[in-house]
Amino acid sequence: MVVRLNDILDTVSKYAPDADLDLIMRAYMYAAKMHAGQTRKSGEPYLIHPIAVAGILAEVQMDVDTIATALLHDTIEDCLTTREEIEAMFGPTVAELVSGVTKIGKLQFRSKAEAQAENFRKMVLAMAKDVRVVIVKLADRVHNMSTLEHMKPEAQRRIAEETEEIYAPIANRLGLHRIKEQLLDLCLKYLHPEVYEELTEAVAATADERDDYIRRTTDLLADRLHNRSVPCEVNGRAKSLPSIHRKMVEQRLEFEQIYDLLAFRVLVEDIQTCYAALGTIHGQFKPVPDKIKDYIAMPKVNGYQSLHTTVIGPERQRIELQIRTHHMHRVAENGIAAHWRYKEGHLDLDPKSIETLEKLRELFEAAHEVQDSNEFLATAKSGLFADSVYVFTPAMEVRSFPAGATVLDFAYAIHTDLGNTCTGAKVDGRMVAMRHALQSGERLEIVTKKDQTPSRDWLDIATTGRALSKIRKALRDAERDQGIEMGRNMLTSELKRHGQTIAKLTKTGIIKALLRSHGFKDTDQLFLALARGQTPLAKVVKELLPEVEWTPATQEKNGISALLERIRGRSASPVRIAGEGDMLVTYAHCCTPLPGEQVTGYITRGRGITVHLSGCRQLLALEEERRIPVEWDRGAKSQHNGELTIVCANRAGLLANISGTCEKSGINITRASANPLEDEQSEIQMEVSVRDVSELNKLISKLEKIKGVLSVDRVRK
Ligand code: MN
Repeated sequence: MVVRLNDILDTVSKYAPDADLDLIMRAYMYAAKMHAGQTRKSGEPYLIHPIAVAGILAEVQMDVDTIATALLHDTIEDCLTTREEIEAMFGPTVAELVSGVTKIGKLQFRSKAEAQAENFRKMVLAMAKDVRVVIVKLADRVHNMSTLEHMKPEAQRRIAEETEEIYAPIANRLGLHRIKEQLLDLCLKYLHPEVYEELTEAVAATADERDDYIRRTTDLLADRLHNRSVPCEVNGRAKSLPSIHRKMVEQRLEFEQIYDLLAFRVLVEDIQTCYAALGTIHGQFKPVPDKIKDYIAMPKVNGYQSLHTTVIGPERQRIELQIRTHHMHRVAENGIAAHWRYKEGHLDLDPKSIETLEKLRELFEAAHEVQDSNEFLATAKSGLFADSVYVFTPAMEVRSFPAGATVLDFAYAIHTDLGNTCTGAKVDGRMVAMRHALQSGERLEIVTKKDQTPSRDWLDIATTGRALSKIRKALRDAERDQGIEMGRNMLTSELKRHGQTIAKLTKTGIIKALLRSHGFKDTDQLFLALARGQTPLAKVVKELLPEVEWTPATQEKNGISALLERIRGRSASPVRIAGEGDMLVTYAHCCTPLPGEQVTGYITRGRGITVHLSGCRQLLALEEERRIPVEWDRGAKSQHNGELTIVCANRAGLLANISGTCEKSGINITRASANPLEDEQSEIQMEVSVRDVSELNKLISKLEKIKGVLSVDRVRK
């Protein structure tokens, strides 16, 4: 594959007559200067590589910025050029693209686990904000794979595996069929050399016979179609080696018949003619049942459209046919790139709209792929690719996080202990703080300190549900430990006044008897009950020392007043509730109140204050003397759960619309489930995390506007 600059210029000016060829020439000159004296492993001048990559991209009719990027793609990595220099010479678009390709080039896939591969693919897509970066990387991979013979066998295998697991599926997802087939062909060559050789020989050995059959069949098909006034172009070809191999593996076929290698294609002007051609062919040749697929009415997720059928053709052979329009053909070959419009050879879209185009595609995919409510939730939570970040663990595993997640989220995702003792992290060798926001491609190593413990302000640093709930648990545990300590001190000092100790009383067995009679599992439970005021100290001392006339040393505060004092702090009344971080306040499940709503507190026995809506029926049924006035602390920025019931029609893509609406409003879905109702309807139960009631109300009115949504209600029991 020797490509020269002139070949590229010729090819480009054919599909883009007004293209800015000057940019390509300048990029070529610069690359030639920068790579001067460098050689490839093969001993050839290095410049051959960028030219070949540019050639591959000209073949798939890419814009001039992409082709210039191909010529320059290794200059930052290998020649110490800077992004600034490229920007000054070739403008911001090319600079952004070249630095994007450089960044992705640094990623190396290690694990073969399926989930890791999927995450890694997403990381590549997320890091390349402009999809053209990925396309250049794919072309780079095609050329590197085609020169793999100069590498050591382990390197060949590793690169081929990475190509098969990561890059070929990405090419498929972007609909870049030709690039995908080239990559898979080379993967087969290096991963299954015997199969590759066998198939190559078989294909070569039957070449004459096959070409003859193809010619006779295309002539016959074209004749029959033209006779019935179906204007079309018919061609036939041998299938690619990887697709023959795929078919053999999937259908457990032996390679026997040349006919299994063939595929015929009918290209027509418009969609009606596709169906007319299909009808005509089925009228002339017997169709094989169950082999008809209508990808025009139901396109594949990557945008592919065609009619597929298999008929009994000449000499009673089964032949496979694809029927499509010329436009569908371009899309089938070149994927999303086929939709692009060009102006003077440059892409006639600003980078922002390229990004939007991508997001649309992904939403489209999500709507098709979502199958059950769990998956719906995962999709809703992780959002679109662009809203997730993908980072490496020290073991080079890929982990995904919602955009905005911090080092602390990462630490808790790896291990709870790592989170609880986290002080920061090393990112690619440099220290960052706990609140550092993760960036795709970073490799993190958590730094810990033995005596580190979570504090309340960590609730503002963590963003993921997992980290937040682990921090809350750690804070609760710490509070419990403090309570135990406090209770122990209360009892110890009281016993001391009477010349007793806990240890002495334990020996006599009386403590054990007390624990049993109160139903405590251990002394910790007793201490905790004392501290919380659930069990009065006086009563315990009386049981332990029945002979002593007991007078309290200090006025014992009962549980409720001690609690109130702690909550009230200095003076303020009514009690301010700070939000979810507040350990002594819980929100009633019956009415799930939100900030902004009228609320009343209820002092429970030993579980702090439960906050109800002021009009809640359950609250009104409870003891009046335990109700206390409370109000929301306006300064507090906490999240609260609101529950919604959505009744909707069973419409494709509706779940994606709902999650997209939450996403756009910046609202997280924390739980969701869907149940079918009668009459083609479903009921979705969804819990969302909001700041206050007005945010929830705004979301409700947006959800109500979605087509297919019949009603949205808050859940109130
Ligand atoms: Mn390269």
